[in-house]
Amino acid sequence: MALVLAGGIGSRMGRPKQFIDLLGHPALWHTLRAFEDSPSVSRVYTVGDETRISRLASEAGIGKYAGCAEPGETRPLSTKSGLRLCGENDETIVLVHDGSRCLVTPALIERIVAAAREAPDGVIPTVPVSDTIKVAENGSVEKTLDRSKLHATQTPQAFRLGLLRRIYASLEDRLRAATDDASLVEREGGIVRIVPGEKTNIKLTSPEDLVLAEAILASRGRVRS
Ligand code: C5P
Repeated sequence: MALVLAGGIGSRMGRPKQFIDLLGHPALWHTLRAFEDSPSVSRVYTVGDETRISRLASEAGIGKYAGCAEPGETRPLSTKSGLRLCGENDETIVLVHDGSRCLVTPALIERIVAAAREAPDGVIPTVPVSDTIKVAENGSVEKTLDRSKLHATQTPQAFRLGLLRRIYASLEDRLRAATDDASLVEREGGIVRIVPGEKTNIKLTSPEDLVLAEAILASRGRVRS
């Protein structure tokens, strides 16, 4: 099952990214459709504005839609809130996904689920980093990182529900700083496997991402309907 986080306020975009129109539908419409079209996903839980999201899910024909939880102040607190809604048993694989990654494909989702069935603690999609990454402080470079070891990380990230439940039961201030779910699993000593992500699986973050997102959607033939 999937947990789609759509409770952010879009501070870098200036408005909630998940509801921005892309080729005639809100971004989240495209996100939810990808999970609806993935045979391995049984139910889709969400986090965010319940009235708006349940209406959107119904308009998008999301038969797997299973409810919406109140968002938290930060992403990890939204995940924690969403997990409370999930009634499945501890062995169930949960895919935690950024609602604003609206270009996710059923092919990627299926690849993650297949890997998660074999993985010890978790699976994340990653893509190679093409820029050289430097650590800088006060305007000067401190060091250059070894690019061959760097992986840009995406969602959906897959874990057994029981593991996430245990981790998210911990103190809120430990969760607060995490920018993804895998980092919390890693911190507990869990082994997280990487599988190839998709370069097009971008997260809507700043206005120029919208141009790219519409071009990618158009190239896939998902046009106004
Ligand atoms: O802010 P960031 O880009 O990391 O957000 C990733 C995803 O988490 C977005 O889809 C956003 O809606 C969601 N989020 C949330 N609750 C928050 C912050 C972010 O559900 N408090």
